[in-house]
Amino acid sequence: MPTVNNSTIVSNPNLKQPKTIAIMKRVLESNDQNAIANQRSFDERHILAINLMSSPGSGKTTLLEATARKAKFKFAVIEGDMETNRDADRLLKLGVNAYQICTGTACHLEADMVRNAADQMNLNGIEVLFVENVGNLVCPASYELGTHLNVVLLSTPEGDDKVLKYPVMFRTADLVLITKAELAPMFDFSVDRVRSEVRQLKPEIKTVAVSAKTGEGFDDWLAFIEAHLQARQ
Ligand code: MG
Ligand code: ZN
Repeated sequence: MPTVNNSTIVSNPNLKQPKTIAIMKRVLESNDQNAIANQRSFDERHILAINLMSSPGSGKTTLLEATARKAKFKFAVIEGDMETNRDADRLLKLGVNAYQICTGTACHLEADMVRNAADQMNLNGIEVLFVENVGNLVCPASYELGTHLNVVLLSTPEGDDKVLKYPVMFRTADLVLITKAELAPMFDFSVDRVRSEVRQLKPEIKTVAVSAKTGEGFDDWLAFIEAHLQARQ
């Protein structure tokens, strides 16, 4: 039970109505069906699909740009934002096969959006498909997309206290990346604190600190993907 003063907890009574609960359940169930179909289709094409989740501005697209410069595997990207093609354009400029989803009002991607995007793309020869989710540490964690792995990013300017504040998100992670590692001293960011709090939630999960500026951690990041690619062969 919450130990804080109850008057500070704001809740929407509509969300507790049986009808609302039933609708939410249906939405999530139909999303799960679409996610299962997505994964089957990725498997048939021997594509490893990775869902990237984090707050806005933590460096998901920057990670992908740096990955494009260093990776030996061939990858494509589905970008999710509410508006604009900015992120897909950044990757297209580097020669990466990228497709932008604009969600309009939705603050997360859903499995059918990913399927529609994948249908528009030429994924021949692609080994890894990154899905860059809408920037948000909350609801993307609740919508399966059919990807094989979840990678959650936390940038050093956001602060080292986020893992236990957003446990639902961090519990979905197969890997946690601390981004903008070169700025850690400037923001009094403790990599050890994050690593230990991630372990507290999920002991088997690795936390890797990376910097797209200095290249720190990229060997580990790329090795993580390579290991999963090999395991699937
Ligand atoms: Mg982005
Ligand atoms: Zn959402």
